[in-house]
Amino acid sequence: MPPSPNKPHTAPLPLARLRPRALYVHLPFCARRCPYCDFATAPLDRSVERRYLDALALEVRRRLPEGWRPDTLYLGGGTPAELSSPGIERLVEVLGPYASEAREVTLEANPRTLLPRKLARLREGLRVGRLSLGAQSFQAELLETLGRFHRGSDVARAVELARSLGVEDVSVDLIYAVPGQELADLERDLDATLALEPTHVSIYGLTFEPETAFEAARARGELSEQPEERQVRFYATLRRRLRGAGFLHYEISSFARPGRYARHNRVYWRNHPYVGLGNGAASHLRGVRTTNLRDIAAYAAALEAGQRPVDQVERLDPASKLRETAYLALRTSEGIVPARFLRDTGHEVREVFSEELARLTELGLLEEVEGRIRLSGRGVSLADAVARELL
Ligand code: SF4
Repeated sequence: MPPSPNKPHTAPLPLARLRPRALYVHLPFCARRCPYCDFATAPLDRSVERRYLDALALEVRRRLPEGWRPDTLYLGGGTPAELSSPGIERLVEVLGPYASEAREVTLEANPRTLLPRKLARLREGLRVGRLSLGAQSFQAELLETLGRFHRGSDVARAVELARSLGVEDVSVDLIYAVPGQELADLERDLDATLALEPTHVSIYGLTFEPETAFEAARARGELSEQPEERQVRFYATLRRRLRGAGFLHYEISSFARPGRYARHNRVYWRNHPYVGLGNGAASHLRGVRTTNLRDIAAYAAALEAGQRPVDQVERLDPASKLRETAYLALRTSEGIVPARFLRDTGHEVREVFSEELARLTELGLLEEVEGRIRLSGRGVSLADAVARELL
């Protein structure tokens, strides 16, 4: 039976049997809301923070068996390092045991607000060894358009801080196709990024999400999306420059130095089980995807009342699961590994998708290399079309 929303809690989920390897923990607080962002975030407020962390501790206690140790822990948000010092102590106390054997612990951070003592404490208490820095751009004008309050120089400071504390894995996030951005701007952002020698770069094309300030500005005619052909050129430039600098383009939005790929995200791309805790966080266990309540007060109230803080429950039918597994694998440079697909789903990929694979290969969007089925160079730039065909 799928878990039902707000069902009074009876016993911890049998995670040990479901064998998820990845734990995501959502810390929603941000110094200020960015106008393009549709994540579950909240303004900084210390009393809300206390209540939230108490609720999170309840969710941890009820859902995570004591002896369970994930391979990866991802602290996302929001801006996790915006927690107050007592908040960070509480987080360390609650999550410390679960981080003790993780092979990868990632912290998302804002380049301007990352403080040495907080990063040092998170490194010591939760073994943070990977930093994901929301740089987005290094140029004042574009940062202003994006409503970001850091400067390009803050990114360099944060990278230096991370390295001084022994955090060797640093991922830089860049946003492209920002209104008003020229190709020369992107080249400058890439120059600045590469000069910092990160181990990983994630790239995101700007999207206008419903109910964001950006979408409202677009509806009023004050902002407009970059034309599609320009977006394709931005993407091609990012790909050319990052690959030219020795990064492996190992997933549609992700580039890594050899061996520095994101283990945690690989769990998502392989459609393997994971647990998400906190407001708005999603979990995927045994073909059932649950999403927690987004509103912090509602999330906390449910846990305080002994209920599960779940908002949505989606049981993936077997056909959807197959399609999703195939598409997620195609997002990666590894592509679909038929033996893994068979092990994970019980089906032969070439049998279930014979027509789609033939059509996409004929269109030059897929290729087969060493027994793996993956996007061709053309398919990488047209990944959305491949997704439509498969999903
Ligand atoms: S800092 Fe990140 S999570 Fe917070 S509002 Fe901005 S984009 Fe959203």
